[in-house]
Amino acid sequence: MRYISTRGGISPIAFKDAVMMGLASDGGLLLPQSYPAISGEQLESWRKLTYAELAFEVISRYVDDIPAADLKSLIIRSYATFTHPDVTPLVRKNGVYILELFHGVTLAFKDVALQFLGNMFEYILAERNQTLNIIGATSGDTGSAAIHGVRGKKGISIFILHPLGKTSAVQALQMTSVTDANVHNIAVHGTFDDCQDMVKELFGDLEFKEKYSLGAVNSINWARVLAQVVYYFYAWLRVTDEAVGPVHFSVPTGNFGDIFAGYVAKRMGLPMGRLLLATNENNILTRFINASDYSLGTVVPTVSPSMDIQIASNFERYLFHLFAEDSVRLKEAFAELKADGRITCSPEEMAQVRTDFCSDSVDQVATLQQIRDFYEKTDYLLDPHTAVGVKAALDLLPSDSARVCLATAHPAKFSETVEQALGFQSPAPESVKELYGKPTRCEIMDADIASVREFIVAHIG
Ligand SMILES: *Cc1c(COP(=O)(O)O)cnc(C)c1O
Repeated sequence: MRYISTRGGISPIAFKDAVMMGLASDGGLLLPQSYPAISGEQLESWRKLTYAELAFEVISRYVDDIPAADLKSLIIRSYATFTHPDVTPLVRKNGVYILELFHGVTLAFKDVALQFLGNMFEYILAERNQTLNIIGATSGDTGSAAIHGVRGKKGISIFILHPLGKTSAVQALQMTSVTDANVHNIAVHGTFDDCQDMVKELFGDLEFKEKYSLGAVNSINWARVLAQVVYYFYAWLRVTDEAVGPVHFSVPTGNFGDIFAGYVAKRMGLPMGRLLLATNENNILTRFINASDYSLGTVVPTVSPSMDIQIASNFERYLFHLFAEDSVRLKEAFAELKADGRITCSPEEMAQVRTDFCSDSVDQVATLQQIRDFYEKTDYLLDPHTAVGVKAALDLLPSDSARVCLATAHPAKFSETVEQALGFQSPAPESVKELYGKPTRCEIMDADIASVREFIVAHIG
């Protein structure tokens, strides 16, 4: 399997090179040249597999430059860190299925991809005798999952910038309580955008980037999407162990990574029903799907902060397929976005979009109401991101069919919002209770690029 760029500017590369490249060197996103087809018979033969065994079957179809035994052991190690034996268990509540993706170390679905990516980086770096310095900005979830993905790993240092006091309390502790020598937390007096701008500036300095082997862990890395494809197969198998009929998926969406993984599963032949893209007030993708309106607005802060995004970075991957893999058309679309703040699609293209996805936007009042309703009916606590997807599924997907709602975070990670909805906090799992009282390490700095750069240079591995 070889990988190409959506912008058409690189010759095809192998899997390991795609992982190390992250963002394609022509500014595009990397995609496999084709999607391996999984037959109905093959799918049936996967029913008895454990999560890690299934992950190996799916992932190995995209990886031909790592020996099978090595890949298998890397995958087993990645999912052994999950606290539930099924890794991503599926539970049935109130007429929907909840796919619990939050049993990893930082209680959000990002662990599924970042445990795998951390081990993959370590494996490739050791083989190539190289080092990597990861630099990233986070509003909370990505940073903590990335830190836990690479803590203590040889050849890797990580520097994560977060806005001081603007993440949830649990998110901050999940980052700053990791005191391994290769982990560096920087809390910035400023906003997430200030952090993001500084990281962009560091990456924009190509000399600095080369000299210090800078790398990123944002959701554009193909290995992250790939790891997430697995749980669509897993959930479909668990639903159809018992039921017949269509299996729909509802996905709370920010950067379009999770839902793109669902689209990939569909392209591989997983016979799923609808893919429902759920957004909060930051609903550019819903406006696009329902009203052909892809025009940029401003980001509104909501109770589901990991979805407070206007430009969904992974959306480019889908547009490439929508435009029939035509890089020229894709580049025109992004030129239009830059010039006019919008992307325009033809009626034929929009018809295809509506075959691929349906969508709904759920505001904060409805999100909090959904947390309350669900709890009253089931005693089950939804985190605010999951609640957005559940509300959209109940409104849009037929009630006589299987509706799988991706639960992207544990409610204890956003207990401030759960308390706002219900008047009490989510009971904390052991891993959260243990956070309080642990020693922490964090550098507090002004939003000043020169001092951030100086700190990084002084602490680089
Ligand atoms: C990152 C995140 C999302 C959004 O996922 P994307 O892949 O960016 O669409 C939703 N919920 C939670 C809890 C997240 O951390």
